[in-house]
Amino acid sequence: MNVLVINAGSSSLKYQLLNPETEQVLAKGLCERIGIDGKFTYKADGKQAIKAADVAMPTHSEAIKAVLDALVDAENGVVGSMKEIDAVGHRVVHGGEKFAQSVLITDEVMAAIEECNPLAPLHNPANIIGIKACQELMPGTPMVAVFDTAFHQTMPEVAYTYALPYEYYENDKVRRYGFHGTSHKYVSGRAAAMLGKKPEELKLVSCHLGNGSSVTAVDCGKSVDTSMGFTPLAGLPMGTRCGDIDAGIMEYLMKKYDMNISEMLNVLNKKSGVQGISGVSSDFRDLEAAKGEGNHRAELALDSFHYSVKKLIGSYAAAMGGVDAVIFTAGVGENGIGDRAEIVKGLEFMGIKLDAEKNKVRGEETVISADDSAVKILLIPTNEELMIAQDTAALCR
Ligand code: AMP
Repeated sequence: MNVLVINAGSSSLKYQLLNPETEQVLAKGLCERIGIDGKFTYKADGKQAIKAADVAMPTHSEAIKAVLDALVDAENGVVGSMKEIDAVGHRVVHGGEKFAQSVLITDEVMAAIEECNPLAPLHNPANIIGIKACQELMPGTPMVAVFDTAFHQTMPEVAYTYALPYEYYENDKVRRYGFHGTSHKYVSGRAAAMLGKKPEELKLVSCHLGNGSSVTAVDCGKSVDTSMGFTPLAGLPMGTRCGDIDAGIMEYLMKKYDMNISEMLNVLNKKSGVQGISGVSSDFRDLEAAKGEGNHRAELALDSFHYSVKKLIGSYAAAMGGVDAVIFTAGVGENGIGDRAEIVKGLEFMGIKLDAEKNKVRGEETVISADDSAVKILLIPTNEELMIAQDTAALCR
């Protein structure tokens, strides 16, 4: 079975055609600057990447048409015809409280996704455009929506309720939702496989540390708490997002600098996090380099990030009454040898003990804890596309 995985943004679209059983990626790529001047990238397995600029892509429909044409192309294509694309899996950011798992897309499902638009105004409308463009070009091909929020719908109300007037939850759905669910679900499933245990037997803390970062407590295979909240702005300091701050800061700064709410949110989303503290970069490699040259603010940004992750590991172990394994994934989690070491330093009292030699590894599925560590530390490269393809296949068989 071949599944086309689509991740549509407002002006970009990432795609992958893969076989969820063999896990083989037949082709993948990216359409960028949709509605502007159309850039197209395509890479078939075992072949040279193709890049094209100024491809006419006024809308997502033309972008998806370009993807489909490339996939069936006589020279560089990977399938003989569109009939060999059995299903499409769409990443959808917000499923609200309506979707606790992936679903086959019907007219009712589309309407329910649209109802979630106010919860993710920048993301969901773009996801919907991607779905509609595919439906138009591939009538009859089953489509599945896979939500970033779905995995976290198992959180108990004590974990998702904010201490605000309860009516805001009842009437306006203001609550913790959590994101990166597809990644946390994938790596926690892999962790169980690596440890030779059933998911129901494990308490896991999953650390998805990238440009956007979140930590999730996974008890018995279910998300029971997570650091992102009503929006992906909450929790850890990230590349440019502030994470948790005192809400009172907003009024103070808005008054002092005569900012309106969108200007304030722009600061919190785009100018904060490790970029904001360091003034150097949102990229952890740049921060390491600047720290090496004695830049105090770069060092502070890294320290602040590590400290925040460490505190979440401790608090989620407390929430679950223990922890069997800590998972590191995503760009920083998979590559940041020093970052992992700093995060778990001092957690030996909880039975978390790193093996410095085993930790000298990047992007590989492996155990990096010491042999006598009571809690396993796992490095697991995330694979959201594979998870989306597997969920899609399971619903289309
Ligand atoms: P992601 O959002 O998962 O793609 O992660 C992107 C982030 O991973 C980048 O901003 C980098 O800071 C980080 N990253 C990538 N490679 C490395 C590395 N070798 N060491 C530390 N961080 C890295």
